Order: sequence, then C-alpha cells, then structure tokens
Amino acid sequence: LFAGPVDFLKGVVAMDGLPPADRPEVCFAGRSNAGKSSLINALTGRKSLARASNTPGRTQEINYFTLGERAYLVDLPGYGFAKAPVAVVAKWQALLKNYLSGRPTLRRAFTLIDSRHGVKDVDHEIMKLLDRSAVPFQVVLTKADKIGAQAMEATVAQVQEALQKHPAAYPELVITSSEKGQGIATLRAIIASLD
Ligand code: GDP
Repeated sequence: LFAGPVDFLKGVVAMDGLPPADRPEVCFAGRSNAGKSSLINALTGRKSLARASNTPGRTQEINYFTLGERAYLVDLPGYGFAKAPVAVVAKWQALLKNYLSGRPTLRRAFTLIDSRHGVKDVDHEIMKLLDRSAVPFQVVLTKADKIGAQAMEATVAQVQEALQKHPAAYPELVITSSEKGQGIATLRAIIASLD
C-alpha cells in the first residue's frame, strides 16, 4: 500500500464525513502520549504531518491521509486520558465503534503500546472493540529506545500474554523507536504488503 506521497486529506468528526470506502486503509490507535504522532511522522518521512503533541482531553478527529492514490492511512484519536469529559469520551467511543465496525476497506489496525507501560485496561477495551468488529490488529511497541533489553523482554512477554485474550490480534509485535528509526522500515513493509 505504501506508494506515492503522503498527504493530509481531512479530519472527520462523524461517520458521514468519512471519505468513500473506495480503497484499502490501515488505522493507528493508541493511548494519548503513546507516540502515535511521532510514529506516523517517522513512517511517512514527514516531520509534522501528524501533530506531535495533542491536548489531553481535546475533542479529536479521525484524521485521513492519502498514501498516493492507492490507500488511506487513518490516525484515530488518542484515548485514555482520565481528564476527558464523559460526554467527549462517549461521543468518541461511538464514533470509533461505528468506524471500526462499518469500514469494509479497513485492512489492519495498528495498536500502539508504550514499551515502558505495556497493555493497560483502556488498551484492552480498544482490543475488545477490534475483536468484536473482526478487524485484524497488530501491536506496535513504541519508544523502544527508552528501555533496556531486559525490560523490553518483560514488556513483550506481558503484551503477548495479554493478546491471548484477543482473537483478532496478530501474535507478532513490531518493536519501534520513532526517535532512532528502529522498526520503521519493518512497519512500512508490513503496510506495503497489505492490499
Ligand atoms: P501521541 O500523543 O500518541 O501522538 O504521542 P506523541 O507522538 O506526541 O509522543 C508523546 C511523547 O513521547 C513526546 O514527548 C514524544 O517526543 C515522545 N516520543 C514519541 N516517540 C518516541 C520515541 O520513539 N522515543 C522517545 N525517546 N520518545 C518518543
């Protein structure tokens, strides 16, 4: 799928704002601060395509990017900030649920997990939604440069254990550091191999 220039297409706040489902797409989800913007920027080679810092709790949009003419890259709003008002969370959850269960061209979701933190309850919630929507998903561990080899081993074990509860999960994790460029080519190759 990774052919041609990456450009911002639009921010979507409701289902009727989605672009036509006329090409394959992949989406990225993660707790706020998991490193999603940094990863998308590293992946696309664009410095500030996805905003590198999001305001906690701000009402957020589903951001669509074009991967050339052939595919979409979809940046889902970060989740899990306790500060977000209940109504905002509810609206976001409804949009997310509708998006995940109603997007036939969605090929794979990448769920970002901070290597230092592992899978938390809010991550399980998203993963359950992905299971129920039958969207195959793959965990991307972020900020690998922030921990040592031993801690990384522990994280990988915790995440793999957690994934056993989720039938839609791929068992293989992608270990990345946007800072150091680790795993970025691998992730790009995974996306390129989808069609
Ligand atoms: P988002 O909220 O998920 O979009 O997260 P951001 O991409 O804004 O990253 C959150 C924080 O983590 C920022 O301070 C980033 O500079 C930092 N960060 C993101 N990726 C990495 C990484 O690979 N290594 C390091 N050391 N820091 C990172």
